[in-house]
Amino acid sequence: MGNMKITLKDGSVKEVEKGVSLFEVAKSIHPALAKEAVAAEVNGEIVGMSYEVNTDIELSIFKFDSEEGKKVFWHSASHVLAQAVKKLFPGTKLGIGPAIDNGFYYDFDSEHQFTENDLGKIEKEMTKIVQSNLEIERFELPREEAIALMKEKNEDYKVELINDLPEGEVISFYKQGDFVDLCAGPHLPSTKPLKGMKLLSLAGAYWKGSEKNKMLQRIYGTAFPKKKALDEYLVMLEEAKKRDHNKIGREQEIFTTVDTIGQGLPLLMPKGAKLMQILQRFVEDEEERRGYELTKTPYMAKKDLYEISGHWQHYRDGMFLLGEEENEMMALRPMTCPFQFMIYKSKLRSYRELPVRYAETSTLFRNESSGEMHGLIRVRQFTLSEGHIICRPDQLADEFKRTVDLINYVMSAIGIKDDIYYRFSKWDPNNKEKYIDNPPAWESAQSKMKVILDDIGLDYVEADGEAAFYGPKLDLQIKNVYGKEDTIITIQIDFSLPEKFDMSYVDKESNKATPYVIHRTSIGCYERTLAILIEKFAGAFPLWMSPTQVKVLPIAEKFNDYGQEIVDKMLRAGIRVEMDERYEKIGLKIREARLEKTPYMIIVGENEENNQTVNVRSRDRGELGEIKLDDCIAELRDEIDNLTIIKKEEE
Ligand SMILES: [Zn+2]
Ligand SMILES: [Zn+2]
Repeated sequence: MGNMKITLKDGSVKEVEKGVSLFEVAKSIHPALAKEAVAAEVNGEIVGMSYEVNTDIELSIFKFDSEEGKKVFWHSASHVLAQAVKKLFPGTKLGIGPAIDNGFYYDFDSEHQFTENDLGKIEKEMTKIVQSNLEIERFELPREEAIALMKEKNEDYKVELINDLPEGEVISFYKQGDFVDLCAGPHLPSTKPLKGMKLLSLAGAYWKGSEKNKMLQRIYGTAFPKKKALDEYLVMLEEAKKRDHNKIGREQEIFTTVDTIGQGLPLLMPKGAKLMQILQRFVEDEEERRGYELTKTPYMAKKDLYEISGHWQHYRDGMFLLGEEENEMMALRPMTCPFQFMIYKSKLRSYRELPVRYAETSTLFRNESSGEMHGLIRVRQFTLSEGHIICRPDQLADEFKRTVDLINYVMSAIGIKDDIYYRFSKWDPNNKEKYIDNPPAWESAQSKMKVILDDIGLDYVEADGEAAFYGPKLDLQIKNVYGKEDTIITIQIDFSLPEKFDMSYVDKESNKATPYVIHRTSIGCYERTLAILIEKFAGAFPLWMSPTQVKVLPIAEKFNDYGQEIVDKMLRAGIRVEMDERYEKIGLKIREARLEKTPYMIIVGENEENNQTVNVRSRDRGELGEIKLDDCIAELRDEIDNLTIIKKEEE
């Protein structure tokens, strides 16, 4: 038998005998690596460690700390969950059980209604399976035999999945002990490494995510190679729950949802609406200072418009359609670009007029699937600080820079500049369905963008297959309290739509020329940014964005008149102030104001009234004592105007 050449990630080459497993290869590199290896990549494909080397290969080995490793690890844990459930609740049918962000789930169709109480029992059974150190083996079957096996086990959903597989597809199974699951894999070589497992929650989930199908029972869990790592994760999770915008946003009456209205359609309550208005005024004023003009365009349009933009062809499933007749159909807008383009086109443009910068606080509609709805983050109707810059090629780099500058300014002001990173999102040449098929145009736009990014000196990572269907983009990425990453801001250079919409200007030589378009937002989608800010500040917003900035608390009713004097003066100074004039003990008023996380409390009694002073307590800086009323107003105004964010000392 000949030797096989293995090229490792660092470029070094290793020779092994034909048929040797990756596990053995890892062992020969370092015994510790074999112990920690979870999965591997062979010639670009993720495989399990039991994979046998039968040709020359390129190899990367993954430990749990890599994204690939975690996926295999968690997917293996989901099989253990399924095995335990089948043992404890015979007759349960299996849906699917994938790895997800931070763990895994499995969907079950069972006569038994799972409750929180069952989770501990299932965990115990899972521990037994792990301790038995069952080997996880892969085998393949021809279609007929695969269907027969799953029918014999009464796994109706698996039979359906096999029938859905295209003709000629390899049908593989994974077996551990007496448990068999239809699965593409890969998996851990045995159940042994799954040492720290925890089932976290229960939910209902429609089979294949469709409301037309049966509702299955979903069990969520997570797993780690060490018990200690699991414990640390659970502590982090508890902390995250305290900050979860979906929890404190409701507790603090920022938003609510109502089943009768629909999923993904949150209602902003007075406090939430005020927060959004504050952010919106801040953004619109800043944009105006930076040369943007405001537009106000319709929420819907005939399909003709979306046919030009390509949304009809590339994004139809994501739009809400109105009307029955195909040729009279309208759609709610998923973005504002085509509308602003029409404003640009409404008259002849000279090169001297460019750049044109349009901004709109736009209401947009996207038909996300109901399984993805989450608080203020995944919604079907949202508000975007949207804008389009139409410029000449010689202005592109400068306009892009200005856009990044505006965004950086906004991110600093709202206090999340240090939490974001930049991602240069490129297209995927192999995905012809998602992207406009024009390779030279993509290459040219992407290289232009790279030059600009490098020129600004931005620190960014590159990502393939993350571009919009019509162009590359620069994304600002942020992680929520659970570590789940989201895009908060996007800037795109568009090489395609200006031509499709026949946008033009008359250049210096009196020729017709095509402008560039930069699509951008400056604070992102208000709902999502609000969610991020709720989590960032755990509801204790900086003074300038707090819906109520000051609470005046008279220590007895007879000081309400002086309290009202303070309120009037502060209102005239543009400070959002409220008075608690109830006939209640001052201690209770203070406790309540603290729970509401009001930045400043002003306590007034006889002393203060006689001296024309106020007694100030800052949420972030503690007791400030007695201050002249006018000085207090000046200080607050200063903190507001400078958009100050006070870093709170650890409690
Ligand atoms: Zn599987
Ligand atoms: Zn746009």
